[in-house]
Amino acid sequence: MSHSHTIKHNKPGSRQVHHNREKFNPYRHKDENDKIHISVLETMTSLCCKRCCDIIQWKVDFGKYQHLERPRRCNGCSEKTVAISYHHICQECAKKAIVCAKCQKPPKFEGMAADGAKRPQEEASDSESSDDEDEDEVGAEPKKPLSESLLKYVFVDEPISDEEFAAYRGLDARRLVQYKRKVQAMIEKEKRSNLRERERRTVLRKLKKAEGADAGAEVMDFDSDEEM
Ligand SMILES: [Zn+2]
Ligand SMILES: [Zn+2]
Repeated sequence: MSHSHTIKHNKPGSRQVHHNREKFNPYRHKDENDKIHISVLETMTSLCCKRCCDIIQWKVDFGKYQHLERPRRCNGCSEKTVAISYHHICQECAKKAIVCAKCQKPPKFEGMAADGAKRPQEEASDSESSDDEDEDEVGAEPKKPLSESLLKYVFVDEPISDEEFAAYRGLDARRLVQYKRKVQAMIEKEKRSNLRERERRTVLRKLKKAEGADAGAEVMDFDSDEEM
């Protein structure tokens, strides 16, 4: 990189000298094992509203994400079923009640665009006084989440392609959709292999029949030879 910027206006340092070439990465100097695993990143916001998705992502972006050592008690079913950090109710309860697994509010987006009501971002800044008084809520919460994070979870407020989960619009329902697809794929596979098995058996049966017919023909030929 050239240093031409620094001597512009004849004042060294009048412009920012150092530019980060890469985005700030709190895990750069950490051990490989301390990095947050992709499987965690994929599930940490499951059934959370966009605001809570942003909050959890912010913790990751600034190296504040803490793993759960053991499952926590769910505010819904009172069982120790909360397996995801910062979540207050378990996935089953969030799914049943159709509420955010973290703030436990029903997803808000309906009619928002239609009647020109508040957009989710404005709303998020309105309720800055956090309702989380948890012992594990370490560090200040994002007043302004990074634009990247804001973009990352925009899909949460968008309609869900799978109609079965339409009611979950406003929550990160990726896992529900993925799970359904997985189950469907398994059923399809099972069907295909059953079909293949049936086909195999049919072919075998035909083959046996044909063999039997051949054998019969041979026998018949033999018989006819004898008769002659
Ligand atoms: Zn529960
Ligand atoms: Zn929430």
